[in-house]
Amino acid sequence: MFGTMNDYTRKLIEIDRACLWYPFTQMKGWLGIDPVIIERGEGFALIDTEGRRYIDGFSSLWCNVHGHCVPEIDAAIRDQLGRISHSTMLGLGQDKAVELAGRLIEIAPEGLSRVFYSDSGSTSVEIAIKMAYQYWQNKGVVKRKKFISLSDAYHGDTIGSVSVGGMGLFHRIFSSLLFETYFVDSPHVYRFDGTEDECRAHCLGQMESYLEKYGDEIAGIIVEPLVQGAAGILVQPKGFLKGVEELARKYGVLLIVDEVATGFGKTGKMFACEVEGVKPDLMCLAKGITGGYLPLAATLATEEIFDAFIGEVDEFKTFYHGHTYTGNALGCAAAIASLDLFDANSVIESLGEKVAIIDEAFEGMRELPFVGDARHVGLMGGIEIVKDKATKESFAYEESVGAKLCMTMRSKGAMLRPLGDVIVLMPSVGIDVETLKKLLGIVREAIAEELDDIVKGL
Ligand SMILES: *Cc1c(COP(=O)(O)O)cnc(C)c1O
Repeated sequence: MFGTMNDYTRKLIEIDRACLWYPFTQMKGWLGIDPVIIERGEGFALIDTEGRRYIDGFSSLWCNVHGHCVPEIDAAIRDQLGRISHSTMLGLGQDKAVELAGRLIEIAPEGLSRVFYSDSGSTSVEIAIKMAYQYWQNKGVVKRKKFISLSDAYHGDTIGSVSVGGMGLFHRIFSSLLFETYFVDSPHVYRFDGTEDECRAHCLGQMESYLEKYGDEIAGIIVEPLVQGAAGILVQPKGFLKGVEELARKYGVLLIVDEVATGFGKTGKMFACEVEGVKPDLMCLAKGITGGYLPLAATLATEEIFDAFIGEVDEFKTFYHGHTYTGNALGCAAAIASLDLFDANSVIESLGEKVAIIDEAFEGMRELPFVGDARHVGLMGGIEIVKDKATKESFAYEESVGAKLCMTMRSKGAMLRPLGDVIVLMPSVGIDVETLKKLLGIVREAIAEELDDIVKGL
């Protein structure tokens, strides 16, 4: 422990070891290493307290959009600091929150007309679930209380969002705290015994059978659109999302689309819903909303849902939900600046070229030893490492092959984080082509040249 490092890093690591508890982290392992401590960012690079630079290959956990220390966003936040950092939305309006709501509705899928703010992806989902639930109660359809979700879904870490989440590894321990949800097989084409079309038909068929059987108890269906992120970047078969929408309409249940990961350009369009022309009833936004600067989230709803909450005070139709930092002014100012940059830099228009570069690189990576699958939608990529390409057998969980491989990439100057043995490639939407190619080069090199040694050392 304590390899060569400067005094500042050493001091920080001492405090870190004594005082911190990290998210999604087995601290036993953490306490045995010298952690990298990020001190600065510059464009698409992260810089640690030792001055080492890394390409931010996971967009700081999928939220960074235009890079770090972007002058326009920095200036917008500074300007807002000089006005007010935070003022409550409980009983008061706030100019930046109002302005941003108008901007979000302008770009959101057709039909969404109302913005309800919160501060994380989890709360945006929690709010969507509560809105969907109360919508039916307010309308007097009291039996509709349950949700349909996908196996291996990830919608956040609060108890409600965990209840509609299907990731056993994260959620099993809390099972007795959760409300009952119907889980449909996740459309995981690589692991499905059949074609992409058969995979889609199987999963939609199962969803329909739940709707036939329990339809009048169902309040809504919640999905991550186009790709299940945390499950391992499971790219859905074409038409799956559209099929879910058709089922929601056929059986008269609400469609909640969790765009927390996919929103703001990650799939090649501003929102994943656009790819299949889907119009959700509720849409959850977080991660990229502020360009990845500040914790802000929004749940968007249709006027139909909003109207069900309108009434006299003594009708008790009010949505009793709100957080202290709901619609935080600094976050909203950053979000407006980020949306301005989408326009100024033609970010969405520039994505085609980047997506094509990833497509080509992944094509090549599929040929490498141990690469079972390399899949992506837009800039959201997953490279699945397997022990045996023919049988698709995985390495044992405790071998942590994905984590070891990412450490190798880190030593080569790229910061990535795996999901099990899936190497997640999720660069910032605004990344320049040269940096993207460099990032892909490091990923390829680590797999092609180092993975063999990692496997031999298991
Ligand atoms: C990250 C994520 C969440 C949770 O967002 P937090 O801000 O971490 O609470 C919810 N849904 C999806 C699809 C996500 O990727």
